[in-house]
Amino acid sequence: MSTDRPVLVINAGSSSLKYQLVRPGSGASLATGLVERIGLDGGRVTHAAHGQEHATPVDVPDHHRAFEVLRAQFAEYGPDLAQEPPVAVGHRVVHGGSRFASTVLIDDEVLEALRRLVPLAPLHNPGNIAGIEVAREAFPDLPQVAIFDTAFHQTMPPAAYTYAVPRAWREEHGVRRYGFHGTSHDYVARRTAALLGRPAEEVAVVVLHLGNGASATAVLDGRSVDTTMGLTPLEGLVMGTRGGDLDPGVGGHLARVAGVGIEDFDRALSKESGLLGLTGSSDFREVMARRAAGDPDATLAFDVVVHRLVRYLGALALVMGRLDAVTFTAGIGENNAELRSAVLSRAGLLGIRLDESANGAADGEARISTVDSPVAAFVVPTNEEWEIARQAAALLEG
Ligand code: AMP
Repeated sequence: MSTDRPVLVINAGSSSLKYQLVRPGSGASLATGLVERIGLDGGRVTHAAHGQEHATPVDVPDHHRAFEVLRAQFAEYGPDLAQEPPVAVGHRVVHGGSRFASTVLIDDEVLEALRRLVPLAPLHNPGNIAGIEVAREAFPDLPQVAIFDTAFHQTMPPAAYTYAVPRAWREEHGVRRYGFHGTSHDYVARRTAALLGRPAEEVAVVVLHLGNGASATAVLDGRSVDTTMGLTPLEGLVMGTRGGDLDPGVGGHLARVAGVGIEDFDRALSKESGLLGLTGSSDFREVMARRAAGDPDATLAFDVVVHRLVRYLGALALVMGRLDAVTFTAGIGENNAELRSAVLSRAGLLGIRLDESANGAADGEARISTVDSPVAAFVVPTNEEWEIARQAAALLEG
């Protein structure tokens, strides 16, 4: 990278605005912030820069005001955006459909395409779009770049992304698998290749992104060839409030026997299932604490989470036909050695030999397989903001 001017990375949701000023070359984070409760009572902003954090109550009726708040935080606590202007604003966008297979410079036409994609991600894309619209006003002189959670998975072959459903659903309504967390899977797979000391284009990795949302991806020679999430981020693994895979017949069954309507069904699947549905808590730490105390619901939840992971780990390895490494990332994957151990101790068939003490001691990037393990296992902290900054800067450099 010829220059390392920072990128302002924006992750705008319907009621929050997360931001970070990142140098794309080194990954150095110059400031992070979060504007919370946009459009709600009790708004507040937290801004961290120069090693200090400042939390301030603010009134944030809309995204427009949220960007004013952001600018004011930089003006007051730094770094000074005028002194070293960002090279771009990089926006995280959840759903890019089949239209966006890579990072793009945002113009009116791209924004219009994003609006047409809202039906595919009604919970996420509207907040992302609001962030883009307002950022264009707030920073009219800066290029605005969209980085999609789905784009990395556009390399999946039709065999992996096609649902066996009626033609009209597929052709008229975009019903297919898209996959999510692409920025994280891409970053973690490349870090894994670096830890193996090999080019990313030559390694086969299963990345397990296990946070509040969770997905597993088969990354073969640097490209996603299969992933566990589908049309929406509901498919696949067990998550904080999402249950992952489910017999498609459950919806019809509940409609007939209990009169459950589509809105209630959707809400239950995205907000009331997963760890929350099984234990009453969506927080993995709390589930682990309860399991340690002998709680049967928490014990079952852990077993269901592990079972689903083992099943997909085996499936994704076989999809690739070879395997060099399995890598854990995100809140749970980076921090919970017990879960990693439960999964990998059942992966001997794949050639993985877990090093229990390395696993227990892992902090930051770490190898957790034995030195003679035929297939390696790693922990790699994800860094989506750096990856977004890197991709935005790379696009501008052509
Ligand atoms: P994320 O969405 O990546 O922020 O991950 C959130 C999830 O990570 C929550 O379920 C947390 O309980 C879990 N998590 C965060 N820190 C830890 C930890 N030290 N041990 C276990 N789980 C953790």
